[in-house]
Amino acid sequence: MGHEHNHHHHHLQSITGDLKKIYICAIILNALFVAFEAWMGFHSDSLSLVSDAGHKLVDVFSLCLTLFAFILASSRPGKNFTFGFRKLTVLISLLNAVFVVIIAGSIIYESIEKMLDPSSLTPDGTAISITAAVGIVINAISVTLLSYKRRHDVNTRGAFIHMLTDCLLSIGVVIAGFIIKWTGFVLLDPIVSLCIAGFVLANILGVLIESFKMSIDAVPERIDAVKIKDSISSVKGVAEVKDLHIWPVSTTETALTARLVIDDPARIAEITSQVKEQVKAGGVDDSTIEIQLQQ
Ligand SMILES: [Zn+2]
Repeated sequence: MGHEHNHHHHHLQSITGDLKKIYICAIILNALFVAFEAWMGFHSDSLSLVSDAGHKLVDVFSLCLTLFAFILASSRPGKNFTFGFRKLTVLISLLNAVFVVIIAGSIIYESIEKMLDPSSLTPDGTAISITAAVGIVINAISVTLLSYKRRHDVNTRGAFIHMLTDCLLSIGVVIAGFIIKWTGFVLLDPIVSLCIAGFVLANILGVLIESFKMSIDAVPERIDAVKIKDSISSVKGVAEVKDLHIWPVSTTETALTARLVIDDPARIAEITSQVKEQVKAGGVDDSTIEIQLQQ
């Protein structure tokens, strides 16, 4: 019975100093804007600004998590934590998604309450437009910062696309502010809030489902388990694939274990290395293969 396990953690390079600095800059910049927008929202009686501040707070939190995940991804295995703290990235992602759903839910509740009592609405259209315009500038700076590295990392690319979408959202809020100022259509303020909450929910739903599935060790969405099983079976000399398990070690890494029934003991090393190649091509980082000889 042969047993092989190799670790190729070349993808787990510790976060580069530049990328870390870019994230810290983007986090500080956006956190300052959240404080400004929330303050403006309360003073101009604008639910859409307060809602957008809630949305941006979630964004800042996500940027912090992405940075934290980079650091966790390179954590070394310890005596009692044989995986390091990599799986913590999944738990954090799940908690983040739950937190976002709660924020979006409270925005929706607040918006509906205001819509049912329009006399309570006194939003200042000018303040809304000016604040959202500042938001566009902050977004543009963040997009420029993150675009330097976006080709090298999937998380950073995700953050980049998100910031770009947020720019469009802010443009919408600027226009809504002008409409409120010119037409006095105050209901537009809670309507814009609802749109922001809907946008945030739509964005997080996939993350919520994916991180929940990852926390119960489902095969990550980017991995095709059937294809991997087929590719292992197609290696010459493999009679049967048993006990195939594929699970996420972190939000970015995947592990696999399998038992292979083979008939030729002379080809164990050859078959194992071919199977490992197939598995790697399927997007799995770590594989442990056990060989069982056919009776
Ligand atoms: Zn956002």
